[in-house]
Amino acid sequence: MSMFRLPSQNLKSRSKKPIARIAVLCSGGDAPGMNAAIRAVVRTAVANNLEVFGISRGYAGLLEGKLAPMNASSVANIIQRGGTVLKTSRCPEFFHRTGRAQAAKVLKAHKIDTLVVIGGDGSFAGAHLLSKEFGINCIGLPGTIDNDIFGSDDTIGFDTSVNTALEAIDRIRDTASSHDRLFIVEVMGKHAGFIALQVGICGGAETILIPEYKVPFGSICKSIDRGIKRGKLSSIIVVAEGYRGGNATEIAKQFEKKGYSAKVAILGHIQRGGAPSAHDRFLASTLGAYSVHAAIHGLKNVIVGLENNQIVFVPFTKVISKKKTITKQYLEISAELAV
Ligand code: ADP
Repeated sequence: MSMFRLPSQNLKSRSKKPIARIAVLCSGGDAPGMNAAIRAVVRTAVANNLEVFGISRGYAGLLEGKLAPMNASSVANIIQRGGTVLKTSRCPEFFHRTGRAQAAKVLKAHKIDTLVVIGGDGSFAGAHLLSKEFGINCIGLPGTIDNDIFGSDDTIGFDTSVNTALEAIDRIRDTASSHDRLFIVEVMGKHAGFIALQVGICGGAETILIPEYKVPFGSICKSIDRGIKRGKLSSIIVVAEGYRGGNATEIAKQFEKKGYSAKVAILGHIQRGGAPSAHDRFLASTLGAYSVHAAIHGLKNVIVGLENNQIVFVPFTKVISKKKTITKQYLEISAELAV
């Protein structure tokens, strides 16, 4: 694991804005490392003499005024824990202006200068509207296992999730090879194939199926047949849950129709849980710390992300209007590795 380069944008050259209070929440799907991010935000705020409030259950808790002061001790012993001590939620009211008006009212009543939102692009879309409509300053931290945030090469939780899925695949490989079986392993990723791609390459999958590219079923069969021809008796296909050619169960049925026998393993929510990896703790700790420094130096409505191993600040407008693309060459590499 390498250290990140710090922002080229010299924060110290910006005049400090006298902010006194920040608040932090988690929103959307939970991801391992969110706790390390909360800890970093709280501790950096305390170290810089700011008051810091934790908001429970994301935007839903914010609407209900669920803010509580936090201090250095409130985040003791959480860096290694999965999930989020603040809890997270999806909040339908936030899609409406009236809901966001209520959120702004609560934040203004508590004199919050900057709201730090740990979540995915949906959460940032909400934060963007909150700032645009009601002048609330927000900073985003990319927290999602899917790694599908434009403007950041990496997201808090992705590495842990990949490692968790990989551990499961290694176990499946043991049983697959003992019984000469074809296994179809479904991993998370409704709209993005980053998890499937990394898990597939690291787990030595024969074929990787991701939402971004549909593969003709005939070519999937060909890759399995090629393996069988050279004496390979067991194979693993990794499929993202959002693959447009069907989920793991549907693909297994297609195989059965062609006379192959295929077993299915759906990894599901185990990919969300567990202690964050060293990589995710480091990412969460550094980006979390920089979210507070960004706020102190007057930055707003940006996410703190990672680009080419350097910490960067990317405007919400850019993050929510663009889609992060997957590099297709990785699929080609994986096909060659499985030859
Ligand atoms: P993620 O942040 O992980 O992408 P979601 O897309 O579920 O997760 O978004 C989390 C929450 O953010 C939603 O429940 C909603 O409260 C808020 N949100 C998402 N998209 C928008 C939007 N376009 N406008 C306003 N709020 C939004």
